[in-house]
Amino acid sequence: MKDIKLDGDLSFHNIHHASKDFGNRFSFLPAAVLYPKSVSDISNLVTYIFQMGPTSSLTIAPRGHGHSLEGQAQAHQGVVINMETLGKSQEMHFHISANMKTPFVDVSAGELWINILHESLKHGFAPKSWTDYLHLTVGGTLSNAGISGQAFRHGPQINNVYQLQVVTGTGEVVTCTENKNSDLFYGVLGGLGQFGIITRAHIALEPAPKMVKWMKVLYMDFATFTKDQEQLISSNGSFDYVEGFVLINRNGLLNNWRSSFKNKDPAQASGFVSEGKTVFCLEIAKYFKQEDMDTIDQKVENLLSKLNYNESTLFISEVSYVEFLDRVHVSEMKLQEKGLWDVPHPWLNLLVPKSKIHKFADEVFGKILTDTSNGPILIYPVDKSRWNTKTSMVTPKENVFYLVAFLSSAMPSSTRTDGLEYILSQNKRILEVCETANLETKQYLPHYKTQEQWRKHFGGQWEDFLRRKLKYDPLAILTPGQRIFQKEIAFL
Ligand SMILES: Cc1cc2nc3c(=O)[nH]c(=O)nc-3n(C[C@H](O)[C@H](O)[C@H](O)COP(=O)(O)OP(=O)(O)OC[C@H]3O[C@@H](n4cnc5c(N)ncnc54)[C@H](O)[C@@H]3O)c2cc1C
Repeated sequence: MKDIKLDGDLSFHNIHHASKDFGNRFSFLPAAVLYPKSVSDISNLVTYIFQMGPTSSLTIAPRGHGHSLEGQAQAHQGVVINMETLGKSQEMHFHISANMKTPFVDVSAGELWINILHESLKHGFAPKSWTDYLHLTVGGTLSNAGISGQAFRHGPQINNVYQLQVVTGTGEVVTCTENKNSDLFYGVLGGLGQFGIITRAHIALEPAPKMVKWMKVLYMDFATFTKDQEQLISSNGSFDYVEGFVLINRNGLLNNWRSSFKNKDPAQASGFVSEGKTVFCLEIAKYFKQEDMDTIDQKVENLLSKLNYNESTLFISEVSYVEFLDRVHVSEMKLQEKGLWDVPHPWLNLLVPKSKIHKFADEVFGKILTDTSNGPILIYPVDKSRWNTKTSMVTPKENVFYLVAFLSSAMPSSTRTDGLEYILSQNKRILEVCETANLETKQYLPHYKTQEQWRKHFGGQWEDFLRRKLKYDPLAILTPGQRIFQKEIAFL
């Protein structure tokens, strides 16, 4: 490999970080890491390995910020491409003008979303659709979907891209859009890194708001909570962000929020007891600009008046747009300080059809999960009838479905209920309930061990997925850590 023509470096020593990820459970050491300075570095590497043919066992994994959970960005004895190096050596180009219908920024796929936010704001613009955490790369989230509380309005991040530059599994550099090479364009979006390495992307922008009214309200009743959430995602002029989470048997819940949120009725709220109960929190936000300063409170009050939360539990905060979008980073820093960020993360993300969400809640909240002390459990609906569903992302059949994210952290070497084994067994029970009660759920950020399980996951989309693999990465060189396809080695 030493004779590959490169602008960047191919290192056989600086490789250890590439065997780690956020999940902190799987670790496969690569043979080398490419630190690319150009797209041709990536193309030359892939071409070289492709031309070695099936007699070589070498595979390639693009690695964004390594926030995968189960080794998806790793390549055992293969080559990992450090996409962030490419991000640092390529500039962002803004395409914005007064009458432009579709302003966008042309970025490297190794760029972090947080950097795109800061740069876009200098132009008064910002991407429309986000993830809850912004220290992730463009290529990393576009390979999955990129879902957050804005997705009900704008669709996931994979629906907010106009053009991609992709290096396929044969080393070819291809530009694709919804009209040009559209099969590759839609295949790569949500394609789990299977058909090509995204090297650049045109991300849709909109004029950016300045400030955000950010609110949390509580419900004691799941049916009322979901009814309000569903109403919010179906109406046009409502909030700009709709999420929610479940709290089971938490102590002093409202006290925790008082440091950053104002409560309208502190006396009543202090009497609110959450111990031993299952409580549902709706988290909503309304964006606004300087010129809306005088009217925003009234607007928010009107919107809130249509909801049926427990009145004494309204918590409001006013923050800048950046503070709001980068909120999880604040928690990250606190956890980093306590040494609790780099622990195992046995996360489970499910997409649950609307018609099954009540059965799901009955079976899981309070029964399988008797408290939520291991990490947040997000729950919010989205409506894919407004999405472009030609991408590789797999969703339930119904238009409206809930993202339910069990974001657990495990205490290293604990054998109690905060330990890895216990949390994994809980996840297993949740998946078993989905299966036995026929809840027709799909995994988001999916991970399976066998191709049979993958086939089941893709259902009717499997044939297309397989066809694209054979077309764009016929030797199965790319992204082995997803464990969907295995490179077949021919012995001569
Ligand atoms: C704290 C935290 C919060 C999160 N919040 C959300 C959320 O709100 N919504 C959401 O949707 N997701 C969320 N995620 C999940 C996250 O979107 C995915 O794990 C994402 O893949 C991570 O991006 P990354 O840059 O770290 O990718 P990596 O982990 O580096 O890579 C992910 C996968 O994509 C492949 N890949 C990476 N770059 C490319 C590329 N350029 N071309 C092709 N394939 C590539 C990799 O090989 C790997 O298979 C969160 C994750 C964390 C850790």
